[in-house]
Amino acid sequence: MSWKISSSNLDSSQILVDESLFFTGNGYLGVRGNFEEGLPASQKTIRGTYINAFHDSVPIPYGEKHVAFPDTQQKLLNIIDAQTIEIYFGEERFSLAEGEILSFERKLHLDQGFTERIIDWCSPSGKKVKLCFKRLVSFQNQEAFIQRVELESSDDLGRVRIVSTINGDVSNFVDANDPRVASGHAKLLHVTNVEQTEGISFVECETTNTKLKTACAATYCLDVFNSRRDVTETTGITSEFTFDFTGKAAFEKKSIFVDTWRHGKDLRVSAIEQQRQLADKSFQHFLQEQIFFLQDFWKRSDVVITGDPAIQEGIRFNLYHLLQSAGRDRFSNISAKGLSGEGYEGHYFWDTEIYIFPVFLMTQPEMAKRLLLYRYSILDYARDHAKEMGHKKGALYPWRTISGTECSSYYPSGSAQYHISADIAYSFIQYYLVSGDLQFIKEYGAEVLFETARLWLDTGHYDGEAFKIDAVTGPDEYTCIVNNNYYTNVMAKHNLHWAVKFYQLLKEADQEAFAIVSDKIGLHSEEISSWQKAAVQMYLPYDEERKINPQDDTFLHKAVWDLANTPKEEFPLLLHYHPLTLYRYQVCKQADTVLAHFLLEDEQTIETIRNSYDYYEKITTHDSSLSTCIFSIMASKLGDHAKGYHYFNETARLDLDNTHGNTKDGLHMANMGGTWLAIVFGFAGLRMKEEAISFSPILPAKWEGYRFSIQYQGRRIQLEKTVDQTVIALLEGDALTIKLFDQSYLLEKAAPIKI
Ligand code: BGC
Repeated sequence: MSWKISSSNLDSSQILVDESLFFTGNGYLGVRGNFEEGLPASQKTIRGTYINAFHDSVPIPYGEKHVAFPDTQQKLLNIIDAQTIEIYFGEERFSLAEGEILSFERKLHLDQGFTERIIDWCSPSGKKVKLCFKRLVSFQNQEAFIQRVELESSDDLGRVRIVSTINGDVSNFVDANDPRVASGHAKLLHVTNVEQTEGISFVECETTNTKLKTACAATYCLDVFNSRRDVTETTGITSEFTFDFTGKAAFEKKSIFVDTWRHGKDLRVSAIEQQRQLADKSFQHFLQEQIFFLQDFWKRSDVVITGDPAIQEGIRFNLYHLLQSAGRDRFSNISAKGLSGEGYEGHYFWDTEIYIFPVFLMTQPEMAKRLLLYRYSILDYARDHAKEMGHKKGALYPWRTISGTECSSYYPSGSAQYHISADIAYSFIQYYLVSGDLQFIKEYGAEVLFETARLWLDTGHYDGEAFKIDAVTGPDEYTCIVNNNYYTNVMAKHNLHWAVKFYQLLKEADQEAFAIVSDKIGLHSEEISSWQKAAVQMYLPYDEERKINPQDDTFLHKAVWDLANTPKEEFPLLLHYHPLTLYRYQVCKQADTVLAHFLLEDEQTIETIRNSYDYYEKITTHDSSLSTCIFSIMASKLGDHAKGYHYFNETARLDLDNTHGNTKDGLHMANMGGTWLAIVFGFAGLRMKEEAISFSPILPAKWEGYRFSIQYQGRRIQLEKTVDQTVIALLEGDALTIKLFDQSYLLEKAAPIKI
């Protein structure tokens, strides 16, 4: 049960949610779990297929446009629909809205990498048939989406007709009343070529503004069929197969998706060539490859929980979807909804660095590295963005983007979130601490840190002795444009401090590499001392009376929002109150100072951290799905295990149980990463510091135990916690010293640490 997610709910609101939950993807391609046969027009559906980063750009309309407001934004496009397969038994068309559904089940096989829908159906005229729809998006052949339909019946079904389409007439989903999804520009993709050659159906489309192209080439395989007819229309191709049914039949469809960025100009040649290469490969072949690929993935990424099957299901589900959504090339990253839906228009946010990157860093470091390479690849855009925002030097990463330019039209909770630059720097530093890969820092990391350090110098100023940063927004989007947001200042401090460190490391280790970077960006030694000084003198707000870190300079002087008397229906507040109303109160959408205390715990005493946690907990709505996992981690750190578990519970099944009510728009990727963080950093207390890694594991009362492994500097380390003991074992790599509850131990392969 824990390797399989099932649903047998055909209620109309659940159909939309299940389209997200049962999406299949591989980081390049994502296909929502729509029904092959379609749905009645009255049933809402978001029928979607996406290629990571494949977008169009659209103008941003402003009533009043100020200097440096972005003119355009990017939008992930719903691309060519290859999902459709209709089945006719004589004159009766298979549809869940007609006849009788004797049984219905859909499953997502997390260990085998495919989904299936099994239906026992009785047609309006009383013919009984079992239909099984299987599909996968290949992890090994990133362009391939494979479907298989199996039919079984002991009734005389007579002539069966299968009608399959490749349809280029597609548009995006819009909702004018929800700021979290697109409000316009539904139709941006236009068909440029439709062609049927040598049994291959080919459809090519182009975007309206970026002129990027995507194409799909499809082939079919059916054991026995009496006739085939292909109808080429202006927007797609329909292929019809007829055969006499004799008890069992199987039909396979192989669709190859390509795009300009990855496959160059001639998409037709590229897609058809791939079809030829995969010509003799069946669904079974791809399935075997999925299983093989996933064996290695789960070996490194699985978290085993005993005594709590619902949570076990949640964590595996979340990890699997992170794998399906993470971009693997320099064009792409992980969007807020992955490849499961259109919420947030396919944009990449800080969600990647703070919530998702650590999961890959500790389990699949190669994938983590690629996420950083994407950030490096858009560094020039970040330099340009800093300039257009009035900075003389440095790199300001866009708050939300696909190809590198800022896509945020509402700057108070968009471009003003300067902390994203420090978040990206933080992940480069984490990468270095966990991998020890100085070469990567020489080639990429140092430049990113130097340029982001420059940004802080240019943004901040000295007020007396204190270095202050004014007019920015921290992570909490219910409090915008403030002076000295604690989170931003402390992360900037860390950024500056490590920029100096990387400078020293490079200078000592490799003069040549150092010269290359410093010449490239015109670095002066005085800049290094100015970073050092700003880091040391960074102002970190502290309130003597409450003994907490105020979220910013004015936060504690505002009125406190009356959460206890706010009706339940008014959450999330952002859908019910004007932003200014929210900004006037002490009310948080998500973890802000509490998050800073997790990421940089050595900056404050445990008392300040505890007092701050208690203070912010009372005024945090968790309207953002990025919040509860952080409160869980910090509750665990502070020894409140019941609360740690309570918040974790909110996190682990957020999408499976649709607790935020908007899973239909796509899965909450950051929260999915957060589930893993809450176990590994929360319950197991993992920390990666310069001197060593350390654990301080606890066991939630409801569990009998848990086990996971992490990659660390070429090693694989497994931690197992049960009611009676903690066992830390070295599974791969050389012996090392680790800390367990503040005590140092030598960890060797032959001698696991047991306490
Ligand atoms: C959160 C942001 C987050 C974005 C995308 C917003 O609701 O407040 O922190 O980056 O969603 O997930």
